[in-house]
Amino acid sequence: MPNNVPYSRQFIDQEDIDSVTAILESDFLTQGPTVELFEESVCITTGAEYAVAMNSATSALHVAMLAMDIGPGDLVWTSANSFAASSNCALYVGAEVDFVDIDQRSYTISPEQLEKKLSESLRIPDVLIVVHFGGLSCDMKAIFEICQRHSIRIVEDASHAIGATYQGRAVGSCQYSDVSVFSFHPVKIITTGEGGMATTNNQEVANKMRNLRTHGIVRDGILEAKLELEPWLYEQVGLGFNYRLTDVAAALGLSQIKKLPEFIESRNSVAQKYKSLLQGHEIEYQTWEYDSLSSYHLFVILLKNPESRLDKFKRLRSAGFQTTVHYIPIYHHPHYRANGFDRFELDNMENYYSRALSLPCYFNLPEQHINDVVEMLLT
Ligand SMILES: *Cc1c(COP(=O)(O)O)cnc(C)c1O
Repeated sequence: MPNNVPYSRQFIDQEDIDSVTAILESDFLTQGPTVELFEESVCITTGAEYAVAMNSATSALHVAMLAMDIGPGDLVWTSANSFAASSNCALYVGAEVDFVDIDQRSYTISPEQLEKKLSESLRIPDVLIVVHFGGLSCDMKAIFEICQRHSIRIVEDASHAIGATYQGRAVGSCQYSDVSVFSFHPVKIITTGEGGMATTNNQEVANKMRNLRTHGIVRDGILEAKLELEPWLYEQVGLGFNYRLTDVAAALGLSQIKKLPEFIESRNSVAQKYKSLLQGHEIEYQTWEYDSLSSYHLFVILLKNPESRLDKFKRLRSAGFQTTVHYIPIYHHPHYRANGFDRFELDNMENYYSRALSLPCYFNLPEQHINDVVEMLLT
């Protein structure tokens, strides 16, 4: 049978299945107590004060923008080396978007490029959305110091990075940001099927996100006297959405997050194995000089010669290794090309994109697959 090895995938065991089954047999499939339990466990994992579960990271990013009062007339900068959701969230709320170039070794937003762009720009952004590419935290302290000087707020798109650390602290602690967002899509580190989470240390922002997640409707805060006359009362105080995570999904998340340390360890050992096999060859991989542990959502290599990529891609694919490219620069997408980015290019991003290839990387990826992939790359 041919291989069918994806670039990333979920790991589900009997404990996960039992956890979900118990909720299916309970009173609440949604709006029950399990979502809150999952939120608490993400607070414990990250050290953040508040966690708000949502049905996707995309929803969480959208609601984060609204909770931070970002809207028409505002400017959001982010990385082009990401899934389009990182910048779409700014467009949803009517803000403008622009892109900061990446560092050539870490493939994340470069503090130097950020500084350079700020010194050349007429407009200072209101928010910077950093992307912890592949599970590697950006150099947050350096980025935070630059942003502080210009009063720029920070959101972390940590979709790849639950379980990662920066300077010994968990990603999502929001030490250097207003809000962090995780994704629980099956290719990410832990999964709930679809699902996302926003963490923050700001109570007001947390409350706003909670409110926007469920139609903008509240029951708390209605006057006692009013409730006495109309005990059924609830009020829609803002224009929100239905972005709720179900209790079924939260039950899966709760059981998955228990395995997070194992997942991180296994993904790191896959990465180490690739690195040791690639050492001394002309293939580059993600490196960084600051103190950070990656969650290795992705293991990306850069080929020396862009012309060789299509051939390597096809060879790996025909052997059943579902390699792909993360990411097409966001500004390349037709929607962005048609909306102001028709001639836009970032040097490091373009160079990266011409040479990048994502290799299979996930929990318990058999060592033989790693050996086979590297052998195909090197011959
Ligand atoms: C997966 C991903 C998202 C979107 O996550 P969903 O949960 O699928 O909405 C956003 N940003 C990045 C960087 C991602 O990789």
